[in-house]
Amino acid sequence: MPIYEYTCHKCHKKFEALIMGGDTPKCPVCGASSVKRLMSACGFVSKGAGGETASRSASASSCAGCSSSSCSSCGS
Ligand SMILES: [Zn+2]
Repeated sequence: MPIYEYTCHKCHKKFEALIMGGDTPKCPVCGASSVKRLMSACGFVSKGAGGETASRSASASSCAGCSSSSCSSCGS
């Protein structure tokens, strides 16, 4: 589940919120629903980690016969 960083238009407080679906969070400080989503560091971290995992699994997959990285039948 994605965690986004928001800033409140009303009190300008930054906060993080776990977003499910298309929910818009409310400011935990003043309760305003007028918030703006920021490009959070968390989003970049999870994106980078996902890319790293994908590339790592791709390079670790030395088996030509299947997509598994630990294939006992191919012996590689
Ligand atoms: Zn606020």
